[in-house]
Amino acid sequence: MSIKKEFYGVNCDENVYMYTIENKNRCSMSVINYGCIIVSFKVPDKDGKYDDIVLGLDKLDDYVNNNYAYFGVTVGRYANRINNSHFVLDGKSYQLDKNEGENHIHGGHKGIGKVMWNAEILKDDISEYLKLTYLSIDGECGYPGNVKITNIYRLTDENELIIDYIANSDKDTILNLTNHTYFNLKGHKNGNVLDHYIKINSDFYTKSDEKTMPTGEVLKVENTPFDFRKEKLLDNSMKKDKDFKNYIGFDQNFIINNYSNEELKFAASVSEKTSGRCMKVYTTKPGIQFYTGNFLDKNVISKDKSNYDIHSGLCLETQYFPDSINFSHFSSPILKKGDDYKHKTIYKII
Ligand code: BGC
Repeated sequence: MSIKKEFYGVNCDENVYMYTIENKNRCSMSVINYGCIIVSFKVPDKDGKYDDIVLGLDKLDDYVNNNYAYFGVTVGRYANRINNSHFVLDGKSYQLDKNEGENHIHGGHKGIGKVMWNAEILKDDISEYLKLTYLSIDGECGYPGNVKITNIYRLTDENELIIDYIANSDKDTILNLTNHTYFNLKGHKNGNVLDHYIKINSDFYTKSDEKTMPTGEVLKVENTPFDFRKEKLLDNSMKKDKDFKNYIGFDQNFIINNYSNEELKFAASVSEKTSGRCMKVYTTKPGIQFYTGNFLDKNVISKDKSNYDIHSGLCLETQYFPDSINFSHFSSPILKKGDDYKHKTIYKII
């Protein structure tokens, strides 16, 4: 495995670099130290042809100016939504940025996907790895505590992209980090993902309202369009259901069966027949937001001058449940002062 550093662009007088990790199979993953964004992930198909399987933008300025899609971004401090942008912790009320109507999404106006991170190429007994760190200061986007966040990226010779998120805070706070990469296993500019097969290791989902905000109800996936316990073709699953009118795609949090904050669990898999590519996702977090790129805008010029129409990519965002700080029966996203936040997610290409 090797890691290469290249100049990527300039943001507010600071140089931004792209770090490319390549394994012995010539698979490679590139991440930039602005927003800790995954800008490419190149893997072979069944005939040994390499394609970039993640959606993205063409250059740094496009990432800086894009405020809606979160292509490849590390999302936080709280990935997903918080109702009324408000929560109470240790008896104190916190008001976060309102960046989706009255609600808070993906960390606020300038979440951690819109800031410069410090990058280092390091080595341990396992392999060379890339470490990116960011100190989010007390009060940033409304959140309490100075929080030091570290992301570690590895790409193993078994074609596993491993992301470790580690953090700690000097005050009690909430934290929910994820990565918002859109995958298209045919290659990022090769149409939509309706021909992908999906499996999600989940018997239950968190019901949400018309604003995609959890109602607090936990329901069985059985007999709903959310039953992905057996692999299903996305296209068939997207057909409108009588109880799911105006269904433009999936944007849903699933509860991973037997989740554990300690142990990796199989969360989901995606496969596509023509390329023969398959990806399995494992995580230590309790939930996974399955989002089918319902709001992608084909007028936005994207990576390699492509245009992504809706459903050009799908996201598998491993995380705590949306708005979990406001529901005591949801797994708690509270990070206590001095404790370690740990989250590992593996995207394994088969
Ligand atoms: C959310 C979608 C949202 C998208 C882009 C996903 O994580 O679930 O509702 O549109 O991110 O912000």
